[in-house]
Formats: sequence, C-alpha cells, structure tokens
Amino acid sequence: MPNMAMQKNPMPSQTAEERQHNFLEVALGYTVEQAIDEAKRCLQCKNRPCVGGCPVKVYIPDFIAKMAEGDFEGAYQVIAKSSSLPAVCGRVCPQESQCEMKCVRGIKGEPVAIGRLERFAADYHNANCKESPERPASNGHKAAVIGSGPAGLTCAGDLAKMGYDVTVFEALHLAGGVLVYGIPEFRLPKTIVQKEIDTLKQLGVKIETNVVIGKTITVDELMDEYGFEAVFIGSGAGLPKFMNIPGENLKGVYSANEFLTRINLMKAYQKKSHTPIQHGQRVAVVGGGNVAMDAARCARRLGAEVYIIYRRTEAELPARKEEVEHAMEEGIIFKFLTNPLEIHGDGQGWVKSIRCQKMALGEPDASGRRRPVPVEGSEEDIAMDCVIMALGTSPNPLIKSTTEGLDTQKWGGIIADELTGQTSREGVFAGGDAVTGAATVILAMGAGKNAAAAMDAYIRTKTKLSR
Ligand code: FAD
Ligand code: SF4
Ligand code: SF4
Repeated sequence: MPNMAMQKNPMPSQTAEERQHNFLEVALGYTVEQAIDEAKRCLQCKNRPCVGGCPVKVYIPDFIAKMAEGDFEGAYQVIAKSSSLPAVCGRVCPQESQCEMKCVRGIKGEPVAIGRLERFAADYHNANCKESPERPASNGHKAAVIGSGPAGLTCAGDLAKMGYDVTVFEALHLAGGVLVYGIPEFRLPKTIVQKEIDTLKQLGVKIETNVVIGKTITVDELMDEYGFEAVFIGSGAGLPKFMNIPGENLKGVYSANEFLTRINLMKAYQKKSHTPIQHGQRVAVVGGGNVAMDAARCARRLGAEVYIIYRRTEAELPARKEEVEHAMEEGIIFKFLTNPLEIHGDGQGWVKSIRCQKMALGEPDASGRRRPVPVEGSEEDIAMDCVIMALGTSPNPLIKSTTEGLDTQKWGGIIADELTGQTSREGVFAGGDAVTGAATVILAMGAGKNAAAAMDAYIRTKTKLSR
C-alpha cells in the first residue's frame, strides 16, 4: 500500500539560528526510515509524468521503487544511467519547476520529494561503495573539453566511457566550475563535487587546470597542433554585469561572482585564509535571483547585517522560493521596490553609503512582468560598507575572439545546435551556459551529454572509427 500522507517527509535541517553562524550544509539529509517512508508515497504511475519534467530523463519511478524496498545501491545504479552528478542534482536542481512539478501527488498535497530521495541514494553510494569504476578500453582518439563545470564534466565523462582520450582544460586552479566557485558550501559541500571529479579521473579523464583557452592555448592550436579531433566548449557565463552607476569603482563594491569566488574557491570564510573579504559590516546585495540569495546568505554568515535591494516586489523575485525563505529566516532584510542610483565613498576610496530611489510597479513589459517606475522625490541614502552586484552574467568573449569561424549571438552566447551542440566551426561543439546564458546545472549536463554523443558520431564518421 502506498503511503498516502499529503506532505513530504520534512528535511532535517540546521535551525536558522545555528546555520547563520556557520558554512556547514543546511539540509542534513533523510534517515533510512524517512527515505523509505517517502519512497512509499510514489504511486508508480504507468505514464511516468515526473520523467517528462527531468531534463536528463532519470527513470524516477524505477529508482524510487528500489528505495521503497531499501535497495539504495540499486536505486543509485538506476539514477546513474541518466545522470553523472546525482549527489549534486539531488541538492541543487530546481525540482519544484522540473520533475516534482509533474508529480501527480502534487495535485492534492505535496509531490514526492524526488530530489531528496536522489540525494539520499547518491550519498548512500558515495559512503558505501569503495569500488573504482573500470577504465574503458582506449579507442585511440583524442577529444578536448574547455571548462570543468557540469557541462564540461558530463561531456568528458561520457566521452571517456566511449574510450576517448579526453583532456579538460580549466582556467581556474580547481575543477568544478560554478559548483566549486559559485554555489556555497552550505548548499553544496565541495567534498561532494570533488568525489564526482575523482570518479571521472578514475575513468581516465585528464584535467589541466590554470589553462585559459584563448590565452594559454587557442582552440585552433588544440585542433591543429595538439591533435584533438573534436573540441567541446563548456566555458559557462562568468562575465558579471554592473549597473554603470557612479561609485561602482569604489573599494567594497564586488560582483556577486567575485564575492562568491573569494568565499567558496579561496575559502575566505576560514580563519586561516588570507583572502580579503568584508566581515561584520553592513552589506547591500543588489538583485533578486538565486545568486543574490547565495551572496546575501554568505555575507550573513560572515557576521554582516545584510540587505537585499530589489526593484520589484516579493511576488516577482526570480530566486527559488525555498532560497528566499531560508534567507528571510536567517535575518536578511529585504528592501523591495528600491533601486540604487549612486554609491558614495568615504573620501578614502571605500564605500560609505548607497543612494536609492523608491519604485512603483507600472504596466507589464515585454517579459510580461510589471515594469518598475521611479517615484519622484523618494531618494534616500542608506549607510553601507559593501555593495554586491548580483545582476546576471554573460559568456566571456575571449574564446569567440580567438577562434576562427565561431559564430555567437549579439549578447555573446555561442550559436550551437540544440540537439548536438554543433557550432558554426567544424569539429567544435558547445553547450551549457556558454550557449544558453545563465541557466541550471542539469540543463548544462544535458547539453554536455548530447554533445558527447554528437562528437563521437562526428569523429567516427570522419575517421571511419568502428565500435
Ligand atoms: P560553469 O559551471 O560556469 O563552468 C564553466 C567553467 O569554464 C568554469 O570553471 C570556468 O572557469 C571555465 N572557463 C571559462 N572560460 C574558460 C577558458 N577560456 N579556458 C578554460 N576554462 C574556462 N543552477 C542550479 O541548477 N541550481 C542552483 O542552485 C544554482 N545555483 C547557482 C548559484 C550561483 C552563485 C551561480 C553563479 C549559478 C547557480 N546555478 C544554479 C547555475 C548553474 O550553476 C550553471 O547554470 C551551471 O554551472 C552552468 O554549467 P556550465 O558547465 O555551462 O558552466
Ligand atoms: Fe529531478 Fe534533477 Fe533528479 Fe532530474 S536530475 S530527477 S530534475 S532532481
Ligand atoms: Fe511517483 Fe510522482 Fe512519478 Fe507518479 S508522478 S511515478 S507518484 S514520482
């Protein structure tokens, strides 16, 4: 008999009071009993609507059936057929707008907690399975991957499984892309990302860090001089946007990317770290997306009084509802219908205050959202020591400007076929945020997976490689 409880088993978590003083993971994970009880809420629907909501088509009812029997390793093996980063996706996928949105249990009550179950199966496997994956036999062909985010790692893993000699080139000193430099430790512990990267290395994937493609080596050189037969570009969208208002060059103004990189990649929150970062001051985060929530919650953990400054209302916040709730519980102050006009300095080059203007919502714009319009005479100066701009990002133009025949959109996204990742340049494929602009981990993984299959087909056709 299925468990007909209307609500999901709640996720055990650190309390808001505890967690605002540490960087440890907020959600603690289900117990065995909770995992089995939650798995029993699944009705094993014949038409599997939930699978249609997952960009990589995890066989959701099949893995949940194994969970309900207590066969957690079996559940992991089912998930691993479709997803190469289940411990990551179980934590950071926006499940409420993907798999769980399609779950029939959500019609009357809450959907099955698919993400939490996926996380449990992956954590169980990581804790209990000590076997290394077998290294596939070589097919004698070479492929290169640029960028070690979820798109690049997935593409590299799939190519290695097909026998390719794969090298990933990463500009930073550590592999993982946004998973290591952007998403904070308290949402995604870095040991989990490292474990997934170690598995890829065991499959034979080589990772060359501190190599900036377009500066250290170009795409043309990879193909013409280093003998890579196909190249995948998964370089993400890491170029931050600013408001272009006076005072943005003052000390104490960061892009959210820089602020999060200092904290996550360079461990600025650890006492022994020499990375400079603000501590215990007044911090304004401008923007209302997930990146703004991450930056605000990090600043809060460093002891600051934190304000989110957003020009629309709570109803229009683009961040996940759960992230907004967590931020509010942790004491972050939201200033809605507020827009920065200018940042003032203290005369020594540091931020002293931010001048904001009140907004009201007018007619809907092209996106269908009501346009914020300024309220005349409503300017106010708010004392601040630090301002973090979380206004979105776009792809860095470096690779485009150094690669022959690579077409891009006006805003910088690489033009690539949706199904194969094929770009305008023969043998060069692309996917993830570098193509779509800032999106999600699972969509980047899906693009990496599709491109790996297309690169294999391309190399096989060109060289008459047989299986
Ligand atoms: P990235 O992860 O950006 O990786 C690109 C890699 O390429 C980077 O390591 C970069 O250093 C490297 N690179 C760039 N240029 C070069 C070059 N010239 N040479 C060599 N290497 C290069 N998504 C979710 O699904 N859930 C979330 O909760 C979530 N939270 C987020 C929080 C933050 C703070 C941010 C910034 C993003 C978040 N996202 C989230 C979005 C998600 O992380 C991205 O959509 C995803 O990481 C894109 O993957 P990618 O592989 O395309 O690029
Ligand atoms: Fe849901 Fe993401 Fe898992 Fe797919 S990969 S089933 S969308 S949590
Ligand atoms: Fe189970 Fe929900 Fe999928 Fe039905 S839609 S199989 S109840 S997870």
